[in-house]
Amino acid sequence: MAIVWKPVWEEITIEYEGIKVRTVMDKETGLIACPICMTQVLKKKRSMKELEDETMFFFDGQSLIHHLATHGT
Ligand SMILES: [Zn+2]
Repeated sequence: MAIVWKPVWEEITIEYEGIKVRTVMDKETGLIACPICMTQVLKKKRSMKELEDETMFFFDGQSLIHHLATHGT
């Protein structure tokens, strides 16, 4: 039996070391999504499945900011 995760996104603003990032958080799990990765999914450049496989979700703002740096700002 497969477990299907259906995120309920809530808009939030993350603040870490003076960097403010507007993104979405899943109400159920408290996971924060990377806004850049999410945008790529919305623009259909990538699939939601692909996004989940690459684990672009984080439990805290610090991890998200560090991930964002890998996108190259
Ligand atoms: Zn990302």
